Amino acid sequence: MTKKLRPGVVTGEEYLTLLAACKEGGYALPAVNIVGTNSLNAVLETAAKAKSDVIIQLSNGGARFYAGEGAPDAHRARVLGATSAAQHVHLLAAEYGVCVIMHTDHANRKLVPWVEGLIEKSEEHFKKTGKPLFSSHMLDLSSEPLEQNLDECARVLKRLAPLGMSLEIELGVTGGEEDGIGHELKEGDADADNAHLYTQPKDVLAAYDRLNDIGHFTVAASFGNVHGVYAPGNVKLRPEILKNSQKLISEVRGGGDKPLSLVFHGGSGTATHLIQEAVSYGVFKMNIDTDMQFAFAHAIAGNMEANPRAFKYQVDPDNAKPYKSTYDPRKWLRVGELGVVARLEEAIADLGSKGKSLAAA
Ligand SMILES: [Zn+2]
Repeated sequence: MTKKLRPGVVTGEEYLTLLAACKEGGYALPAVNIVGTNSLNAVLETAAKAKSDVIIQLSNGGARFYAGEGAPDAHRARVLGATSAAQHVHLLAAEYGVCVIMHTDHANRKLVPWVEGLIEKSEEHFKKTGKPLFSSHMLDLSSEPLEQNLDECARVLKRLAPLGMSLEIELGVTGGEEDGIGHELKEGDADADNAHLYTQPKDVLAAYDRLNDIGHFTVAASFGNVHGVYAPGNVKLRPEILKNSQKLISEVRGGGDKPLSLVFHGGSGTATHLIQEAVSYGVFKMNIDTDMQFAFAHAIAGNMEANPRAFKYQVDPDNAKPYKSTYDPRKWLRVGELGVVARLEEAIADLGSKGKSLAAA
């Protein structure tokens, strides 16, 4: 039986225990990009309801939004916003009784200082509590030559490892765009030997050899996955690419049949059988930002369409009806939260993590 963990943010050995449980149990955790307490609390609520552990992450834009679009210094706002969200999760996750991996999403070369600002916050937190603020960060230098990508990942991982933190790297480019970082799809992208949209196992081996002795890392591999949701048919999803990378590392370096911990970006809009196939090849994390954004907005739009006069008048001019109880932000924001809960419950079912929380009761 898998060891139980204290509920809350998991780092270090606890993080590794949770990853191992995912891979051994053949399930993955949803990773949701949150932008404020509404989306964040809705994720905790769903995780508690479904008894699933969960990954909470912020993009650089989400972190900036969390601190407030009016905060004058964008760099400081990105650091402080993500720090504030992490502190919120440290305070509340245990209350919801689930384990949370606290993470940040894509950071390209320009955003490395953002990640380093957050590492400083984790170093301070580690000095005080023995735990970092975040479980892991991502560097996405996939648009650079492999050597440069790995040099920088190695440099950052050297700072993360002593804190018990992991690094997510990207090899090959996820199609589409995430918060201004991304790759526009072009004709010919769907060819299987396209090294951009389909991660090559030899590149994964190079990453393994460069990083494995430094610290723990995970790989966002490209197998035709695309950020955002588009009409189908643009790019073919080839989960077998994940299997090929696992097989190569396993054969030449050992570590069992799934030595790599893989991350599935652009999970929104993906058919359940393809999600499950990807998970069977060692995916422990699937990002589902776009579908969550739509679930939140769609639920609120439905509520507003059902009560149009309440969002136009404080008191109805025709019948003097006061609408305070409908336009109160808690009412319609809560509707949005429930939209997130419903969609995330589906994702948790697709990923097989329902009922699998390692959090001790
Ligand atoms: Zn992504």
